[in-house]
This record gives sequence, structure tokens and C-alpha cells, in this order.
Amino acid sequence: MGNFIEEIIEKDLETGKVKKVITRFPPEPNGYLHIGHAKSICLNYYGTAVKYGGICNLRFDDTNPAKEDEEYCNSIIEDIKWLGWKGEIYYASDYFDKMYECAVILIKKGLAYVDDISPEQMKEMRGTLTEPGKETANRNRPIEENLKLFEDMKNGLVADGALVLRAKIDMASPNINMRDPIIYRVLKAHHHRQGDKWNIYPMYDFAHPLEDAIEGITHSICTMEFEDHRPLYDWVLENCGFENPPHQYEFARLNLTRTIMSKRYLKRLVDGGVVDGWDDPRMPTIAGLRRRGYTPSAIREFCDRIGVSKANSEVDVAMLESCIRDELNLTADRAMAVLDPVELVITNRDDDYTEELEIEINPSKPELGVRKVTSSNRYFIEREDFKVVPPPKYHRLVVGGKVRLKGGYIIECKNYETDGNGNVTKIYAEIIENTKSGNDTSGIKVKGVIHWVNARDCVDLEARLYDYLLVDSTEAKDFSERMNPDSLKVCKAKGEKILGEAQKGKSFQFMRTGYFCRDIKSEGLVYNLIVGLKDSYKK
Ligand code: ATP
Ligand code: MG
Repeated sequence: MGNFIEEIIEKDLETGKVKKVITRFPPEPNGYLHIGHAKSICLNYYGTAVKYGGICNLRFDDTNPAKEDEEYCNSIIEDIKWLGWKGEIYYASDYFDKMYECAVILIKKGLAYVDDISPEQMKEMRGTLTEPGKETANRNRPIEENLKLFEDMKNGLVADGALVLRAKIDMASPNINMRDPIIYRVLKAHHHRQGDKWNIYPMYDFAHPLEDAIEGITHSICTMEFEDHRPLYDWVLENCGFENPPHQYEFARLNLTRTIMSKRYLKRLVDGGVVDGWDDPRMPTIAGLRRRGYTPSAIREFCDRIGVSKANSEVDVAMLESCIRDELNLTADRAMAVLDPVELVITNRDDDYTEELEIEINPSKPELGVRKVTSSNRYFIEREDFKVVPPPKYHRLVVGGKVRLKGGYIIECKNYETDGNGNVTKIYAEIIENTKSGNDTSGIKVKGVIHWVNARDCVDLEARLYDYLLVDSTEAKDFSERMNPDSLKVCKAKGEKILGEAQKGKSFQFMRTGYFCRDIKSEGLVYNLIVGLKDSYKK
């Protein structure tokens, strides 16, 4: 069964109320898009427009001149296209003339008036949930006078904030949004597309339904907090004379554990230098997820899995991780990298010993075949894969013990060296003959297989290990008190040769370690941890 939005659309198409589905995604260009926006895009575009053969407009909700920024508009276009959206781009500010006309229509109908109320008075006179609001004296101002004053507002003859235009609805309405809301304010601000043309700007609740109606939107899908605004949405369209007006439907916004979703908060992290920009791989932004190594298909899969409902909830971030992990398990080439390297010397091979080994590119795709990896008598292995004093059930390397080098031979450890502090600096081992992987005739069984790189041809790389931005805490503290001090750990790692040749943005499974993506931004050889190998999400 489809979600409730699909049910509504299917009914509208069936009854002929709607011929072609037209939706919109209306971001305010005051920040970068985040994974919550992706949910809205997946619903408005894939789940609605594409599914029912309609269209989905990208409309910049740029009615608020103070906050808009060209950089944000460009990033939004880039991100939404990356997610696969195709369609037309519109700007709400292009409708300012039409909106002005609509306001004049309301004044002429006696449904809007100019008031000189201050924000403080407005708040005071609005009433409460249990008490009705109070009407101002200006509520009964003659229509002619309202028209003249509104024109003065438009022409820049009125100081910022001195006058407002209010809808004349009902100061006693049980819905506070209907108590004569402000629909225009005076603001002599420069607009990024309109320049200095306007001295007045429309309020969201007035502008948004008009934008939808002008574009012929059939289903205006927004988040739950606008539910109480819906009567005003309908009032504006009815009284401005739109036939076949659009309808608003609300769904629950996405919240994710261990991160922050609001653009306002994310901007604080960027401005405060807490993260390396909007596209920092720890950010829940689309740009951050892309840089981290997420794919559009994994994000879409996540949106499908979480579904659409009216109940607000917090989704476990592990569910998002499990979507990219499942995908990369099938698609990512395997490679070896050693994040915390220690040297391993093979004592029964000479310095000029070299041998080509074959290791599968991706075990879940045998058709891709194998890659060639050269071995020598010097390697790097993980410090963790050797123990002087092994804990119980340790199956990796110890003196006198054996492990297999992935794709290569079984080795037996003979000795090791330490520095003055007791840290292991070098491990000595011997190759056991006739144990080459795929051609092992020795009959020797080992429990441990460890990854390695050939010290003679490996590359130095920086591995950035990311953790969540916020620590796990149920206490309702401001997010700034929940910042995770260990959200980034940088390792000077050693990688298999192919990792040095990979294109930026290419993802690998570093065997036994995690999924990594070559950073698209850094000049040097940098790999970002996308996600670990183990799924902690309980399905
Ligand atoms: P923020 O609080 O992050 O600024 P917003 O709702 O103000 O979010 P807009 O740019 O106005 O952001 O949002 C564009 C569209 O994306 C709106 O239709 C909005 O409902 C939707 N949207 C924003 N955040 C989420 C979310 N967390 N989950 C689902 N949809 C969202
Ligand atoms: Mg907003």
C-alpha cells in the first residue's frame, strides 16, 4: 500500500480533479541542503512527480531579502541535480508584482488593512489559545486610505517597520494564525535578484500559497509545523480569486540521531569553524554526504526505507549508514590499506624477491575478476595485528604463531624489535613454503588472515576517520554542549598502489577496516571513512 500522499494523489487522478501532478520543492536559500531536504525531494520528485508522470519545480523561496545568498542558490541547484532531480527552476521573487496585485485585491475587497502596530503590540494583542485577540483601531480604516498607504509603503515613503499590511480575518479565531496576520512589511533591503526595486516584502504565509497557485501546483507538500497554517493558505487563495487552487498536505520532517538538522544550527558550525565548511564529511548536508562518499542511490534508498508519515520521530543514523554499506558491499572495489602501520620483514626472502599475487576485486562480483598485487620481503601490517602478549582467543600474529597474509602466504613470526618505550618497531617472520593462497598444498591451517601493503610499492595516504558530530546524550542540552571532541581522527596510513592512482570520489572497501572514498577536495592523497564494515542497525 502506498503512503497517505500517494493515496490522495491516486484519488485526485482517478476522479479527474487533477489531470497532471505538479509539485514543488521550495528551499529558502539560506544554507545548504541537508538529508531532511533529501526526504522532501524524494517525496516531491521521485515519489510523486516521477511516479505519476508529472513535474516537480525547484522554487527558491527567496522572499526574505536579508538572508539570501548566491552561493546557497548554486549549491542547492548542484545538490538537487546530483540527487537526480530534473525540472524547471523558479524564484518566488519573480512573482513580487503578482503578489502586490493580490494584496491590492484583498484591500479592495475590504479584506486587508494597513496598521501601524509594533511587533510588541502585535504580540500583546494577539491573544492566547484561550483568549481571543484584540482588534486595533486601524482595522476599520477606509479602503481608499488603505490603498493610498499601501502604495506609500511600496514607494519607499514609509520607514522600515512603521506600517504593515494585515489580512482582515478574525481576531477571535481559535487558530491564532487567522488573527489578522501580517501579509506585507516595509523593509528597504537589497534583494539578490530584484535589486532595490522593492521597499515592501510579503510574509511567508501570504507569499507561499500564491507562489504555488501561480505555478499551477496541484499538491503542495510541506512539513507538519505548517498544519495550523493551512486555513490561512486556503483563505489567501480563495480571496485572491484563484480557481482550482492547490492544496497543502503535511508530512513529518526527518530527524536523525547524533546530528543536527536545521540550517540555522549547521551555519553556526560552519561560521564557528567547528567543521571544514558546509561540505565537511561529518555534516548531514547533501554536499557533506557526497564528499563523505554517499551516493544518490543510497540516499534515495534511505528515504524509501524511512517512508512518509505524519508522526514526527527520530531516525537512527545507523539506518542511513546501513543503506550506503549495503550498496558499497556490492559495488566497491576491494583494496588494502594499513591505518596504523608497523613494519614486517620476511627473513627467508631476498631484497630482490618479488611475486605477483591475485586478489579478487569484489567477492560479490566474481565477474570483475582479480587485481594483481605484488609482494616483496618488506610489508606494513596493522599494529593491532601483532601482539607481544596476546589477549585470550587472539588469532593474529604472535611470536611463534602463524597467520595468512591476505591473498599471499602463511607466515610464521620469529622475532620483533621495540624502541626505548617498548613500542614494536619491526616484526620478523618467515614465509612457509607451499602455502600460497589458492595453491596451498601444505595442509597447514591458520585461523587469522591479515591485510598488508607491500612496503616497496605502497603509497602514503591520509585516512580521515569520522565519528558523529554529537555525543550520545538524552539530556536536552543545547547542541553546542553535545559536540563530539573526537569526531575526526587523522591517520598517516599506507595504501596499496592502486589507491594512489584512483580518481577523486572513487570508493573502496579497505579490507577489514571500512569503506573509504578518495576525497574530492584535497590535493594530496586523502581518503574519507564513509562507514565501517559492521552494521549496528537492528532491522
Ligand atoms: P531548516 O530548519 O533546516 O532551515 P526549513 O524547513 O526552513 O529547514 P526550507 O529551505 O524552507 O528549510 O525547506 C525546503 C523544503 O524542505 C520544505 O518543504 C521543508 O518542509 C522541507 N524540509 C526541510 N527540512 C526537512 C526535514 N528535516 N525533513 C523533511 N523535509 C524537510
Ligand atoms: Mg527555513
